[in-house]
Amino acid sequence: MSRKQKKYGICRICGEYKELTFEHVPPETVFNKGAVRNVSLDAVINDTVKKNKLPWEINYKNGKIQQRGRGDFYLCSDCNSCTGQWYVPAYSRFVHAIQGAMQQAGEQEYESLGLKIKKIRPLPIFKQIMTMFCDINNGLMGDDSLKEYLLEKTSRSFNRDRYHLYAHIHAGALERMNGIMVQAANYGIITLSEISTYPMGFTLYIDKPQGYKPDGVDITPFSDWNYEDEEDTQIIIPKLECNTMLSGDYRTKIEIAGSKD
Ligand SMILES: [Zn+2]
Repeated sequence: MSRKQKKYGICRICGEYKELTFEHVPPETVFNKGAVRNVSLDAVINDTVKKNKLPWEINYKNGKIQQRGRGDFYLCSDCNSCTGQWYVPAYSRFVHAIQGAMQQAGEQEYESLGLKIKKIRPLPIFKQIMTMFCDINNGLMGDDSLKEYLLEKTSRSFNRDRYHLYAHIHAGALERMNGIMVQAANYGIITLSEISTYPMGFTLYIDKPQGYKPDGVDITPFSDWNYEDEEDTQIIIPKLECNTMLSGDYRTKIEIAGSKD
């Protein structure tokens, strides 16, 4: 499709029918420039179930290549440029700091990275991540209050009972960008959406059962800060592997291969 071709639709934040603009998710400044291959869930299920293959053994050459990085026409230009100006710079700095620590760790084996980051701005980071979840899900995930929350840059009226946001360092064979899925677990029903791409992954849990402790580090407290606040912070981020298409599945290849028989 030529870049000049216009595309109209419902903006996923303001909800208005407008001309939509291409948006990188995650932002272009955080390692999302190169071509990616998109694979449908059906294709993966077909190969893993019918051909009895492990997820990373599948030949993904049938997937459609997206040359300019991950993204789509999610938002109108107003919403795209507001959230881009208000939230992306702080988010980008945060992710680059973590990627820098990953580079330092190099080939060393590690389960988590502990790092000190100077002058991070928790609220815009948090709001950028929530923007990405609204991008990849329809209708503000059934919560109209997110529109004002994201379009009022300093707003802090966020439903902390409904959402829990977890972060991890991305590892494993696949990247995932999954809209809301519902899974039955020992703890009850788990409702989650996940964006896990190099170098970081985020998992948003909706109405998480009380006793359930997800993998990753809980960054929901980032939402407690004010927009202008800047802090030196210490954070320990676990590294989690994505080797299947299933959100919240961080089993290693060995664990998956072992469970197959
Ligand atoms: Zn809009």
